[in-house]
Amino acid sequence: MKYFEGLCNGCRQKEIRKRYLAMSETEVAQTIEELLASIERIQEAKELDAFWALLAYRDINTARLAQAAYEKDIFWPGELYRDAPLEVVEGLIARLKNPKCKEANDILCCLAKRGGEEVLACFQELEAHPLPWRAKLYVDPSRYAHEGGWTFTPDGKVHRLAPAHCYTLEPSEHEDGAVRVAQLRHDTCEHCGCRLVDILRLDGQDERLSFLGLEGRIHLPLCPSCVTLSEHALIRYTPNGESTSELKDLEDEEERLLPPEELQGMASKGLCLSQEEAPLYFAHGGAPTSTIGGMPDWVQDAEYPTCPDCGRTMRFLGQIVWEQILDQYAEGTLFLTYCRECRVAIAMHQQT
Ligand SMILES: [Zn+2]
Ligand SMILES: [Zn+2]
Ligand SMILES: [Zn+2]
Repeated sequence: MKYFEGLCNGCRQKEIRKRYLAMSETEVAQTIEELLASIERIQEAKELDAFWALLAYRDINTARLAQAAYEKDIFWPGELYRDAPLEVVEGLIARLKNPKCKEANDILCCLAKRGGEEVLACFQELEAHPLPWRAKLYVDPSRYAHEGGWTFTPDGKVHRLAPAHCYTLEPSEHEDGAVRVAQLRHDTCEHCGCRLVDILRLDGQDERLSFLGLEGRIHLPLCPSCVTLSEHALIRYTPNGESTSELKDLEDEEERLLPPEELQGMASKGLCLSQEEAPLYFAHGGAPTSTIGGMPDWVQDAEYPTCPDCGRTMRFLGQIVWEQILDQYAEGTLFLTYCRECRVAIAMHQQT
């Protein structure tokens, strides 16, 4: 564990969140000016922390930072370019269209975070007619678009994969049934025998969740031990709370991670849906943050699975950071995606 000024990293990140949420608009503007003045150091810890905090907690417009970064050939983190002005987008596209472009990976990420018609047209063209640098990359532009929370079909239809609304899941005193997290069930896991949990119970009728387009109440059961050792859990649900779940490619391990007392403790953390919407990048601030909707804070590459029933790319539902519900054994994050039409959800664990 890393310590800074006597605090562990998790506590330090919570302090940063508190400080940025409390900043006046003047202080926010001043911090942006400081970053602009030191844009060459944006990839260093102090500047990077400030950038993520401004984006996550204050939802800043990044247009000037994008301009400044572009002028210095800085292409990471790609979120600097979220609000890049059109001239900058055109400049990035021109560089990418150079067959010898050396920064293709980073520039594709920058453009993915920016999105928009020009980016779509460029990605479509490069997908259909790859340039020589494509051979050095693992995936096509349509997969890079996933990093920005969207994708497109060959005929140029855009699908938004990360919802344009974000609520956080935080411990709260007052009862709120819109979302319940990690509720213990009566049935048990066929692989390890431990009790299953509904990792999420969602009330589709709650006004805050209307952006998900869910009908009724849905329960998403899984085995919290086995899901971390499998490729994913595939869950089928109905609007009246019935559901089934199965694990894909479960690793054969004798030892299961979660002792019974941890399971009992999960439900009692009392995570509730926030009353107010949060900025889309709220989970990216560094503090452990579980959300419904928003931009997922992937630990590894973006992973939007294909719906096993209809073949469409599944949409982001929410993320649960294990350390918010577990006392120990709490590495990584569980990402949930779903296909509304087919009433299918997939839960995937990622860790460093
Ligand atoms: Zn601490
Ligand atoms: Zn299990
Ligand atoms: Zn489907």
